[in-house]
Amino acid sequence: MSIKIVIAGPRGRMGSEAVNMVLEEPNFELVACIDRKKTGISTLAEKGIPVYQNPEEAFYGRQVDVLIDLTVAEASFNHIIMALQKNIRCVVGTTGFTAEQIEDIRRVASETKTGCIIAPNFAIGAILMMHFSTIAAKFLTDVEIIEKHHDNKIDAPSGTAIKTAEMIKTVRDTKRQGHHDEIEVLKGARGAVDDGIHIHSVRLPGLVAHQEVIFGGEGQQLTIKHDSMNRKSFMDGIKISVNKVFDLEELVYGLENVLDFES
Ligand code: NAP
Repeated sequence: MSIKIVIAGPRGRMGSEAVNMVLEEPNFELVACIDRKKTGISTLAEKGIPVYQNPEEAFYGRQVDVLIDLTVAEASFNHIIMALQKNIRCVVGTTGFTAEQIEDIRRVASETKTGCIIAPNFAIGAILMMHFSTIAAKFLTDVEIIEKHHDNKIDAPSGTAIKTAEMIKTVRDTKRQGHHDEIEVLKGARGAVDDGIHIHSVRLPGLVAHQEVIFGGEGQQLTIKHDSMNRKSFMDGIKISVNKVFDLEELVYGLENVLDFES
């Protein structure tokens, strides 16, 4: 039996790629889309897939197994809460949620016993980059993160950079890095700081999603680097999550908690 999917944000760069992925996947069925403008999606019109401005209508009167949301945090939060309250599982690539929003989603997913996966990065290679960085940070504790994205990205630093720092913090004690009397001649020159880990955000046209995690030790450097060249790189992670979300009755944050690194 096919998995019945609604996509929010089908006109977007991620959303349009997700539409193609769902249409190509034999056991997935795209039953509706949510788009605040509802215009100009010829692929959907050709296939007779309805597009709704109001998410309530997309979920009403049809079986929906999974919502894939690729929009902006504010809209996505409302879509997710509405879907979970209808026991519709969620696979969310949208970034920029506040900690409070994540906690609200966690609470509603648990209360409704409905699976939800939020992943700031669905590229398998990026997950491996974070995993390898967490191993490296046990041994090389001086670390800085440089993330680079296209200039239409709203949030900085990226969800992936924040997540990488969070993972590193689980294996590394708080540490002040750099010179003890360091002075920022231009404010922000040393980037954002999370528990001593400096995070630098670059925004330029031509970039997609890139990150380097640089470790320094006496007389040595280790760089763990990942590049997403296009948005197809995120689709395998979404596909895996759509299948895995059926096994969940709560929120799982991060694709690394869905992938099996051991077997
Ligand atoms: P995008 O091209 O700007 O697309 C965003 C879509 O969301 C557009 O269709 C946009 O419609 C819609 N939207 C914007 N504001 C909205 C609102 N208030 N209500 C409803 N819909 C709204 O962005 P993108 O590159 O596809 O990225 C989409 C999201 O995925 C972002 O949060 C991005 O950070 C995230 N992302 C995640 C991953 C991952 O692996 N998890 C990878 C890349 C990007 P309009 O055209 O009308 O504004």
